[in-house]
Amino acid sequence: MALTIEEQRERQRVKQKEAFARAQSRKIAKLNDPKEREKRFAKQQAASKRQQERQRIKLSSPEYRAQQLAKAKAQAAKAIEKAKTAPPKKRTLRKTTSKGLKGRTPTASERRAMDLIGKLPCIACEKHGRENPMISLHHVYGRTTENAHAYVLPLCCYHHDTLLPKEEREKYPDMLPVHAKGKYGGKRQFSQHNGTERELLVAVYEKVGLPLERLESLP
Ligand SMILES: [Zn+2]
Ligand SMILES: [Zn+2]
Repeated sequence: MALTIEEQRERQRVKQKEAFARAQSRKIAKLNDPKEREKRFAKQQAASKRQQERQRIKLSSPEYRAQQLAKAKAQAAKAIEKAKTAPPKKRTLRKTTSKGLKGRTPTASERRAMDLIGKLPCIACEKHGRENPMISLHHVYGRTTENAHAYVLPLCCYHHDTLLPKEEREKYPDMLPVHAKGKYGGKRQFSQHNGTERELLVAVYEKVGLPLERLESLP
């Protein structure tokens, strides 16, 4: 029985559809086939290896190196030019050049303590019934350790760092500088007449109302 033209065309279409479906399923099967996967993976590996090799050759080529060097030189020249034209950086000048004597800058809390203590008269003279308002602050524990600037004594120059003239010394035997002058003064002689610096510090803290706990850990 012969087919009509219409029937032949329909059969053709069905065949094409089936062929396409078969091709699709073969493709999917290939994609999921472990052996095929391995092949693809090997291909990718080889490609990335070739890429790395090309990069390596590029990086080690004299042309590339020369190019990079020129780039770096240009950048450096630019930086130098910029530094030349830029306004000079402001320098902060230190007021004091002898760091050894001045130590570090007082903190706000140390500054408050110094301001309070600086208003007192000489604490050693006071022990002997004299009032001497001309004082300087003596640092009991140096100028660098923690809170050092808060551990200061108000001392007149003769109790601090100046030796009283001989005839006066006989009148005021307690007036020995805490900073020794030759055989006179020094911590030991000073404290024999005036009490230890620590004791004086306690008296000072009591006078100005600074917390005594701050002195507890001191030697
Ligand atoms: Zn004094
Ligand atoms: Zn001193």
